[in-house]
Amino acid sequence: MPAEEMAKLGQSQKPLLAYGDGIYVVDSEGRRLIDGPGGMWCTQIGYNRREIADALAEQALRLSYNSPWYTINSPASELAERVAKETPGDLNRVFFTTGGSTAVDTALRFSEYYNNVLGRPEKKQIIVRREGYHGSTSLTAACSGRAGNWPNFDIASERITFISSPRFRPAKGLSEAEFLDELVQEFEQTIERIGPEKVAVFLAEPLLASGGVIIPPKGYHARMKEVCERHDIIYVSDEVVTGFGRCGEWFASEAVFGVVPDIITFAKGVTSGYVPLGGLAISEQLLARVSGANAKGGFFTNGYTYSGHPVSCAAAIANMDVIEKDGILDHVRELAPYFAERLIELKTLPCVVDVRASGLVGCVECMLDPDADEPTALDKRLGSLIDKHCFELGLIVRPLGNMCVMSPPLVITREEVDTMVDILRQGIVLATEDMR
Ligand code: PLP
Repeated sequence: MPAEEMAKLGQSQKPLLAYGDGIYVVDSEGRRLIDGPGGMWCTQIGYNRREIADALAEQALRLSYNSPWYTINSPASELAERVAKETPGDLNRVFFTTGGSTAVDTALRFSEYYNNVLGRPEKKQIIVRREGYHGSTSLTAACSGRAGNWPNFDIASERITFISSPRFRPAKGLSEAEFLDELVQEFEQTIERIGPEKVAVFLAEPLLASGGVIIPPKGYHARMKEVCERHDIIYVSDEVVTGFGRCGEWFASEAVFGVVPDIITFAKGVTSGYVPLGGLAISEQLLARVSGANAKGGFFTNGYTYSGHPVSCAAAIANMDVIEKDGILDHVRELAPYFAERLIELKTLPCVVDVRASGLVGCVECMLDPDADEPTALDKRLGSLIDKHCFELGLIVRPLGNMCVMSPPLVITREEVDTMVDILRQGIVLATEDMR
């Protein structure tokens, strides 16, 4: 289990899923459910795709494994080229890992290596945002600014500094432009306080997915990148959620959020969740400073047993083929405004205090007292209650405290968006009635 309430260890009674079909999963009692969160933001092309099953079987029979230390395999080479073609700027060097956490971890480890080779071993500090999420290894968990991830873990705080979440709250009296200025100023001041010679990395999701689909003010990423450039800080864009079509583009950093980062990390949608795989694309310019004539005898180790696993890479190539063949990026771009519009209609419910959406990822935030400043303990139970009701009605919701996240398979149709949002509305109404 990814998370367990320890007092109830071994007692959890989660529904057993029997099979998946398109945007639906079917449980062992035959209940057909819309996969509202897209598994964990990853089931882009949906379930039961023959193309992926065939690619997996063919590759498993052709070459099921190769050691990344002494040999290479064709699917990994081909996939690296395909990914590099879709990344912005000169992010043309691709390393594969086993998932999102290991992709971010490797990006951070690369930054250590990079600064050591450049002869500045003190440049190791990482700046991240509150409400961000970057994974479950020790280091990436320590970089995750969601309070819920912290209790009872030792956090590597000596290397990590948190700055504000870019969540804009109009109620606070600032305009969005003024709020953006404040965020950039805080970033600059934080760098000055730590010492620019000590700051190695700014690690940021384009939108903070697990924090509740927080979309930064327009221009935020470009402004933060400009600060990074001035201080020779590596900008890592964590596209584990936003990559591979979620926002209607292969990668969202430049196309949606206007920034060309130094490193992009990806996972999840790269295989639509069929098999585990992650990776990172690094800028040629960055690599040039520590490779070839500048290598200084260095040897960068990125050696997972399953780095560039041929079967996972074959699935990822088939997945990219399906996304192209079925025009899924265009479909997401066309459907996104309708998806947002339907979610925004939920604001007519008295407890829905905010709705945020980008591409096919959205979040509905609920509070029993819409005028309160912060969600109460009772509000934080609303998400699970909504999920419970929606489940009975045929929809899986990802509850996050008082928020419900929607990140359905990208192949969802307009009619299915209607069904999904209608069920969510009923779930919210029933859950709030329970609470009164
Ligand atoms: N980065 C982001 C932005 C994520 O949302 C996640 C997982 O949700 C991760 C990294 C970690 O990925 P994984 O669970 O594949 O290790």
